[in-house]
Amino acid sequence: MKTISILGSTGSIGKNTVDIIRRYPNLYSVVALTGNQNVELLAEQAKLLNAKMVVTANKTKYKELKDLLFGAKIDVEAGDEAVKNAATLDADWTMSSIVGAAGLIPTMAVVERGKTLALANKETLVCAGEIVMKAIKENNTTLVPVDSEHSAIFQTLENDQRHAVDRILLTASGGPFREKSVEFMKSVTPEQAVAHPNWSMGAKISVDSATMMNKGLEIIEAYHLFGYGVEKIEVLVHPQSIVHSAVGYVDGSVLAHMGNPDMRTPIAYALGWPKRIESPTNRLDLTTLSGLTFMHPDEKKFPALRVAKEALQKGQTATCIMNAANEIAVGAFLNKKIGFLDIVKIVELILEKSHFSRLTNISEVIAVDQETRLKTKELIESFK
Ligand code: NAD
Ligand code: MG
Repeated sequence: MKTISILGSTGSIGKNTVDIIRRYPNLYSVVALTGNQNVELLAEQAKLLNAKMVVTANKTKYKELKDLLFGAKIDVEAGDEAVKNAATLDADWTMSSIVGAAGLIPTMAVVERGKTLALANKETLVCAGEIVMKAIKENNTTLVPVDSEHSAIFQTLENDQRHAVDRILLTASGGPFREKSVEFMKSVTPEQAVAHPNWSMGAKISVDSATMMNKGLEIIEAYHLFGYGVEKIEVLVHPQSIVHSAVGYVDGSVLAHMGNPDMRTPIAYALGWPKRIESPTNRLDLTTLSGLTFMHPDEKKFPALRVAKEALQKGQTATCIMNAANEIAVGAFLNKKIGFLDIVKIVELILEKSHFSRLTNISEVIAVDQETRLKTKELIESFK
């Protein structure tokens, strides 16, 4: 039996992971599940999968979770340190699907164990890609990307032909405001921003998709995962979300990965790798597609792409600062404290005011992340 842990099991990726694992009770045994606010779901998942340990990051939810699991032989813990400890427990395969930089420390704990890391938490690579990738090499950890685009690239990148790659084509749906004017975007509500046309996801990544910061984060993610410079990574808007990304080679071949937009496909791929396993995803029927279209992104309307590429060129400290400012700005937008277009403006202002000293370990990354969060909150206060 393969032992499994899921960090962030109650989120969109976490729930989809549980949905795959529960289909194979004889193949997988669950070590730890972690969540945050939704302890009802966490307790339900723990019972369903017969987990050994369950952790809520929120200490004030401990008693509620403990009561929900009364009588069950499941170890219940709470707090950030307990989430990290859960990540430290030995498991053959761990899904990292906490949202935001909160996933960095637990993900690093998984990396240091040297087994398999299924990585959905892209912010870990945006904050600390150099440090994390170095630790992955040192610990001989197997890293399988879960982000649909990166799973697609992972599947179409011929490992012994890496030198023959001439471009990575990173596809983007364009989000809910792809065809809207800047004028329209000035006054959009959080409800409009999280209503993604093709994918059902958590609130933060949905807003990131609407600003296209998500694609900016994914350029940085691809840079660290596959080692190609920003000049080789080309973003293509593809509103149907059928081609999940592609790799172009020097002989003119383009290997693309297709499928319906359903995260259970890349999750099943990561779970089964190097084999393929069954996923309940609806099979793609090419005859029902009215067409597949691709276009260059409009960086004037969606400046997040330019901001992210510039940050990547400045290095890891800049991308860490960009990520922290973005997380705070997205939170302020969801709480209706700032407008939609202010999100990327704030990120850019924070980057302009920052200087970038080199970060060599996770403590230094966390310090910069925390400091940037405070600065961004102050800036948002001064906006009003
Ligand atoms: P989500 O908001 O639905 O779920 C987040 C999970 O993290 C939940 O289990 C929550 O309890 C936990 N969590 C939140 N704050 C926490 C904290 N401070 N400490 C510990 N745990 C905390 O998010 P999601 O959409 O599932 O996305 C998760 C990650 O996967 C993100 O990094 C996102 O960019 C990435 N991702 C998501 C999708 C998708 O389809 N949803 C696709 C690709 C990549
Ligand atoms: Mg993606």
